[in-house]
Amino acid sequence: MCQYEVIHFHCGHAGRRLIKHCHVARNTADHQCFGAWSIKREWVSANQLCQSCNQQQAVIRRAHQAQMRI
Ligand SMILES: [Zn+2]
Ligand SMILES: [Zn+2]
Repeated sequence: MCQYEVIHFHCGHAGRRLIKHCHVARNTADHQCFGAWSIKREWVSANQLCQSCNQQQAVIRRAHQAQMRI
């Protein structure tokens, strides 16, 4: 079982981040783990968006900036 932490983002999504691989995953080339993952930590990131929302925001921001230039 690998150890993960769960982050709850401002946008309402949650992300999973690896803390530590278990010895099974460590001993395979591509770090595959067939066990269930255990959540060690769970925390709230109050003013951070998840990766996909972050990208979406960046696209919107860029579109707005492009409009202002016209
Ligand atoms: Zn594992
Ligand atoms: Zn999100």
